[in-house]
Amino acid sequence: MASYKVDVGGLLAGGRQRLVVDQQVELEPFEGVTFEPARVHLEMHATGEVLEIAGTLDTEFHGECDRCLGEVAREMHVDVDEQLDTGPEAQKDPFGASNVLTGDRLDLKDLATQLVCSAIPLGLLCGEDCKGICPVCGENKNTGACTCVTET
Ligand SMILES: [Zn+2]
Ligand SMILES: [Zn+2]
Repeated sequence: MASYKVDVGGLLAGGRQRLVVDQQVELEPFEGVTFEPARVHLEMHATGEVLEIAGTLDTEFHGECDRCLGEVAREMHVDVDEQLDTGPEAQKDPFGASNVLTGDRLDLKDLATQLVCSAIPLGLLCGEDCKGICPVCGENKNTGACTCVTET
């Protein structure tokens, strides 16, 4: 299994250097959505106790259309611009963005997972004009299999 831990200790120690991470990250499925390995390119540097992370994440995800349950595949591009509080209190917050940090180790997989999960569109559709599933016969209306007469 690949390691996604990045040592940011040098940055947090007050060094003025930048750390560039260019890595492919495998992502776990999330709420029925699966991901191709993400290409992550990040530049990090620290200002005091704040770790600044900027860069991009690119992947492709597969999910289900909200209306017809057909498969949807989409490219995903995320612009990353995060400022993480590296203090011990912030790291302990399970719902805070800083929980990707453990001491001076940053978990790239946790970070990538947070980024893609917040970028998944709500109400994913196979197309803007998706007709959905017929409530009467249960067929996918996009395929023409439904022959019900609509009463108004
Ligand atoms: Zn659909
Ligand atoms: Zn029908």
